[in-house]
Amino acid sequence: MGSFRTRPETTAKSSHSCDHPRPSPVRPSINSALSQIPGIGPKRAAVLAERGLVTLGDLLLRFPSRYVDWRQVRPINEISPGAVATVRGHLTGLVERPMRGSRWRRLLSGWLQDAQGARIRVLWFNAPPHLRQRFGAAREAILQGKVNRGSDGRMEIVHPEVHLPGQDPPGSLQAQYRAGELIGQRLIRAAVDYALAAAGELPAAIPEEFRAQLELPSIAQAVRYLHQPPPDADLAALQGGTTAAHQALAADELFAFELALELERERAREWSGIAFNRGSGLADRFVSELPFKLTAAQQRALDEIRADMASARQMNRLLMGDVGSGKTVVALWAAINAVDHGYQAAVMAPTELLAEQHYATCRRLCKSIDIRAELLCGTQPASHRRRVLLWLARGEPGIVFGTQALIQRKVEIPRLGLGLIDEQHRFGVFDRVRLQALGPRADMLLLSATPIPRSLARVLLSNLEVSILEERPAGRPPVTTHLVEQGELAAVWRKVRDEVARGNRAYCILPLIESDDQQELAVTTAAAELRERALAGLRVGVMHGRLAAEEKDRVMRQFRDGKLQVLVSTTVIEVGIDVPEATVMVIMGAQRYGLAQLHQLRGRIGRGTQPGDCYLVVNGSANGAVRNKLKVLVDKTSGADIAQADLELRGPGDLFGARQAGPLPLRFAHWMKDFDTIVRLRDLARAWLRRDPQLNTSASRGARAVLAHLLEAGASAASVG
Ligand code: ADP
Ligand code: MG
Repeated sequence: MGSFRTRPETTAKSSHSCDHPRPSPVRPSINSALSQIPGIGPKRAAVLAERGLVTLGDLLLRFPSRYVDWRQVRPINEISPGAVATVRGHLTGLVERPMRGSRWRRLLSGWLQDAQGARIRVLWFNAPPHLRQRFGAAREAILQGKVNRGSDGRMEIVHPEVHLPGQDPPGSLQAQYRAGELIGQRLIRAAVDYALAAAGELPAAIPEEFRAQLELPSIAQAVRYLHQPPPDADLAALQGGTTAAHQALAADELFAFELALELERERAREWSGIAFNRGSGLADRFVSELPFKLTAAQQRALDEIRADMASARQMNRLLMGDVGSGKTVVALWAAINAVDHGYQAAVMAPTELLAEQHYATCRRLCKSIDIRAELLCGTQPASHRRRVLLWLARGEPGIVFGTQALIQRKVEIPRLGLGLIDEQHRFGVFDRVRLQALGPRADMLLLSATPIPRSLARVLLSNLEVSILEERPAGRPPVTTHLVEQGELAAVWRKVRDEVARGNRAYCILPLIESDDQQELAVTTAAAELRERALAGLRVGVMHGRLAAEEKDRVMRQFRDGKLQVLVSTTVIEVGIDVPEATVMVIMGAQRYGLAQLHQLRGRIGRGTQPGDCYLVVNGSANGAVRNKLKVLVDKTSGADIAQADLELRGPGDLFGARQAGPLPLRFAHWMKDFDTIVRLRDLARAWLRRDPQLNTSASRGARAVLAHLLEAGASAASVG
């Protein structure tokens, strides 16, 4: 843990002494617009807004991506290649010339000579024009960067960070931000400084008295610490997210999260649900007409859902089942059951592709039963949307499939009897709240492919009943997973050709869409190259998130129908895509993905009657830890085992890691790696609600503010989707 030191606050008011803050038009607050900061005009404000930064509070909660450590200047004689070093001296021999093979790029190079007379080479590729001017006449500088051995064996630093005497305080840790065009590091640091001074105390969900028990700093202290770490801060703890400041933010977020869950559960207890207990048996007819027999696990889950739906209590159930365990038909049973009782059902999926697939599956499997189904996605023509919205607003029985478009403001589903969320881990709790809000009495069924180990699910999703499909449909062939080197790809492509020759299909997954400097990891270049060489003569399609919705749909259809034999794609196909003939999955740059995600990808094959092969391709630079991580997938096939291994390898917080980048309300929880503390926070949240069930005392003021903010953050996320 890094030591935590309080700095003098510019506005030294504790939350006790300002029970009634008087909003004054001149005094800025965390809700003030960034454009009021000197240096941020409309143009820059627009750039920031694109990155979700609108208010001072937004800026304060967007933490540095890293820190530059200027504290330990070392003599050049004492540094060695491989490490990051800070050196100080005079720049000599600076020259700028065009880079070989490029008319535009320029290379700036020179030497830094320190007081002992030792020298190290420094270079900047494509140096920005102002860089050389910045060095000025004195040419004294502090530089920092990773020390390499150059082609001639001498030490050099490529693209060092530059610090000139007289600028900012040297000898400190300096925050670096992902800022964006038009916004330099210096401006953003000044803006943060302004916001820190202006914001004063920041709302915290955890009441004072609990915070003292937990020995956590205040949110304002934590925020300041992360933006402007004191000189004695521990760099490793700062970068690794383990300082008391990180813990304070994560704890506050988790506390608020638990409060929200508990409140939701209380509310559900008050609302009476709908008793779906006198239907005509339409849903059972659907099941009896399926081309397969339900597995025992599916039947058990279905019976649990049937009992929940039949009771007048509201259902709040999570259906967990590994990829390929057959959750969809169980979910469709529930939706049809709701419709059979004269209600509407809404099925929300995280991607358009998946919503379309469910819609298509429903139409295909419901041919002989009379049921209306519609699709509602963000990118459909306005006329179609209008028609679906009108139909929904009339409250006629039927199923609507859709994306987050379902929880937009204009959508009304007055007779919503069942809300269903597929791949629920892709959504935030607040999306669920919003779907529920469309039909306060509606039953809720969430589907998840188990990225959450049971132990954690019990704590984090404590308000849910859980059904588990631990059995895969019988006769499912195994999928074998191989860890292969880039150099062994020829054999992999041979395998792809063999499979295609037998009428099967293959996926090839890459992490990037396009790239100038990492072409081998980009979909567009890889597809062109495969068509040209290794897979010449095969029908190779391309899929990624930037394609228009119709194009995605067309490509997916072609792949499903066999018009395409190989699909080169990003992870857009990760969730739920179901093409039974796909038997090979090649994942390039496998080290870039998390285990749960790889497991999801692997779940796209071995869905039909034939065995599958999944190739995790790594390059030589992948280290031992990475290989060990990937080995988990070679050795284990059950999602629950993999989630458990993932938990052990990375700590529980990282389950939320992927969300941090996304628009979901849990942003800091991944810093909380200590399971006992998570449990303790849940218990504290419950204890607090027993004392203040409506959160209407002044001690809950912070909690109210944070919850309101979380709901709002979720709402704006939904309107993006
Ligand atoms: P997931 O649980 O990953 O969402 P799906 O619901 O997409 O899995 O089911 C995977 C595949 O298994 C689908 O093609 C589905 O039609 C098929 N399936 C589902 N249940 C059974 C069963 N009992 N027997 C055989 N195939 C089944
Ligand atoms: Mg699914």
